[in-house]
Amino acid sequence: ILQPVSVLGLPMHLAQDYPHWIMHRLEQGLGCHVITLNAEMTMQAEETPVLAHIIHQAELVIPDGSGIVFYMRIHGKRVQRMPGIELAQTLLERSTQFGEPWSIFFFGGAPGVADTAAEHWQKKVPEISIVGTQNGYLQPENEREFLDRLKMLQPRLIYVGLGVPRQELWISQHRHICPNSVWIGVGGSFDVWAG
Ligand code: UDP
Repeated sequence: ILQPVSVLGLPMHLAQDYPHWIMHRLEQGLGCHVITLNAEMTMQAEETPVLAHIIHQAELVIPDGSGIVFYMRIHGKRVQRMPGIELAQTLLERSTQFGEPWSIFFFGGAPGVADTAAEHWQKKVPEISIVGTQNGYLQPENEREFLDRLKMLQPRLIYVGLGVPRQELWISQHRHICPNSVWIGVGGSFDVWAG
């Protein structure tokens, strides 16, 4: 467990190598919720107490934005900026370095986007194991089926791209169905990977 430092009343964790910390945690069979913190999110957290609460609960809060890094620096702490999409990519690239590649799930984006993003990664890293996708505009009547699928799959990495703060709220409500998974809100990353 990393000790947080405080940024504008929110916790942030300092680590030399965030992907390594996450991988080590996964190897121990432990899940986590990763928050990629930027200035916009700190403002949203002020207006939305439940978001602030979720950030406090997260096992890992990383400095996504340059504003956060600047704020830390003027308070005497040097931190390495780690944009969320970079963290997400690094974990995908490293997911095959094990005896058995980690299973990965992509949830979010307009219909087709997560599929195209998955195809992009499958081409880039042929051994990658993306076990499922789901677009982010799920009808309420299909939600149960989706949650059952996720529960059955128990993917090691679950990327949720619904935008801030929707993805953070969704993760905090549902992470208990896959307690040993790494859950990361990835914003518009699927759109970027889909091109
Ligand atoms: N999105 C979604 N379901 C929704 C609302 C948004 O899947 O109900 C997706 C949207 O298609 C886009 C992402 O969430 O892929 C939001 O991206 P954005 O870049 O706005 O994220 P942020 O800036 O909040 O990280």
